[in-house]
Amino acid sequence: MIYDVIIIGAGVIGAMAARELSKYQLKVCLLEKENDVACGASKANSGIIHGGYDPEPGTLKAKMNTEGIDLLYEAAKELHVPFQNNGSLVLAFSEKEDETVLELFERGKINGIAGLSVISGNQARAIEPNLSDKVTSALLVPNAGIICPYALTVAAVGNAMDNGVELKRNFAVAAIEKAAQGYTVSSRDGQAVTGRYILNCAGGYSDKVAAMVGDDGYTIVPRAGEYLLLDRKEGSRVSHTIFQVPSEEGKGILVSPTADGNLLTGPTAAKVATPDSKEITSEGLEQVQRLAAKSVPSVNFRQVITSFTGVRSSGTTGDFIIEPSKKAPGVVHLVAIESPGLTCCVAIARYAVEQLQKQGLSLEEKADWNGSRENTHAFRDMSDEEKDAFIKKNPAYGRIVCRCEQISEGEIRDAIRRNPQARDMDGVKRRTRSGMGRCQGGFCGPYVMRLIAEELGIPMEQVTKNGGDSRMVTERIGK
Ligand SMILES: Cc1cc2nc3c(=O)[nH]c(=O)nc-3n(C[C@H](O)[C@H](O)[C@H](O)COP(=O)(O)OP(=O)(O)OC[C@H]3O[C@@H](n4cnc5c(N)ncnc54)[C@H](O)[C@@H]3O)c2cc1C
Repeated sequence: MIYDVIIIGAGVIGAMAARELSKYQLKVCLLEKENDVACGASKANSGIIHGGYDPEPGTLKAKMNTEGIDLLYEAAKELHVPFQNNGSLVLAFSEKEDETVLELFERGKINGIAGLSVISGNQARAIEPNLSDKVTSALLVPNAGIICPYALTVAAVGNAMDNGVELKRNFAVAAIEKAAQGYTVSSRDGQAVTGRYILNCAGGYSDKVAAMVGDDGYTIVPRAGEYLLLDRKEGSRVSHTIFQVPSEEGKGILVSPTADGNLLTGPTAAKVATPDSKEITSEGLEQVQRLAAKSVPSVNFRQVITSFTGVRSSGTTGDFIIEPSKKAPGVVHLVAIESPGLTCCVAIARYAVEQLQKQGLSLEEKADWNGSRENTHAFRDMSDEEKDAFIKKNPAYGRIVCRCEQISEGEIRDAIRRNPQARDMDGVKRRTRSGMGRCQGGFCGPYVMRLIAEELGIPMEQVTKNGGDSRMVTERIGK
């Protein structure tokens, strides 16, 4: 089989590109090195739909951000991914920072962002009573929002697969060679696929993938961001996403509700050796607490339920790079898709497909494309009557597996059955939130393992945390 397009990398960018290409009569294959989708930057970020005041006017980032906001809200609705248009505030704490707020306001206007306003510290406290009394002014950004980045990625891949895209996991691309028609893409363990066009959406490894076709001029600088996630009890400490203007102390430590009702604080910014780094440092977490408390002094850090690290794929130009290969016709690279890449994902996907078209790919729409994907992760939010009706249809929805997040067996089985199927514990967690609550899987873990084993028809000993050798248990000690 020769695919029309091979996409390398199933983060949010590859996922949205797959969904975009699934609208057309094309054979599309999505390759991912991990055991699941959304395992790179798209799994661990702030989940903010950025309001577009930050990128330098005239850059691709600014264009994608301005175009991307509404496109993302629209896609989230179609895919039934929970989001909130909660707005954001960028805080100033001094006269100098008041000027920066004004500069961001002007920049936003140049970028074509409507509705921005500069408000006083008192006005900011009137809409967010828990803000510090030291706030002197703020930029109010009404179009900003919050969304769960991995739920979005899973939904986009699932929708693309429902429309015919093939997903190949555990396919770590190691070589790309010219074939009679297009290119043969091979993995480290000897798998190979051939396609006429290639989209390089490999995130932190996009420079390495580009070098496989001779484009060795790109460099990714991995920069880690550490976070503290707090219990839902803290989720209403603020309703807007609270940023600070960049300062010498660092930039970008936010305090924000998440789309799932928790409170998120972070991220730090530090260069790390590899895009796969998961390192958490005591200095980083101390910085997160200190700077978050500067904005919202009453955040109760005793309610922290977990910490995590996400790694940015920063480039060397400060802008997104989306361009055809200089050496290999038909190959388009997407490099340095750092923040606000999540916000821009639909706009970037469309732009990337346009680049493929310029390379000669012809697009013929499918008459039966369906852009909608049902959300089955809504059981917790249903009324008692709705729950009753649901349980009558499928009794598995009446058995609660994750007590913290109130996730039922029905939802977990569904996550293992539908596109893209969850195959490991983290996959179930990302799709259903089981194990994401206060106990972090301590109670529901064995139950989830049993469900995975049953659904996949494997022994419990083969259930993994995230593929490969990450088995949950080593051997059976009793019957
Ligand atoms: C700390 C942090 C905070 C952020 N906050 C925000 C925010 O609030 N709002 C926002 O808009 N953006 C934010 N971003 C940016 C956003 O997360 C990224 O722009 C986006 O996730 C990039 O998606 P991607 O698909 O390009 O990369 P990734 O999600 O990293 O996906 C790349 C995929 O390629 C796979 N891959 C790599 N090499 C290979 C190979 N050789 N073969 C096969 N597969 C391969 C990887 O396993 C991975 O799954 C943040 C980023 C970070 C790190």
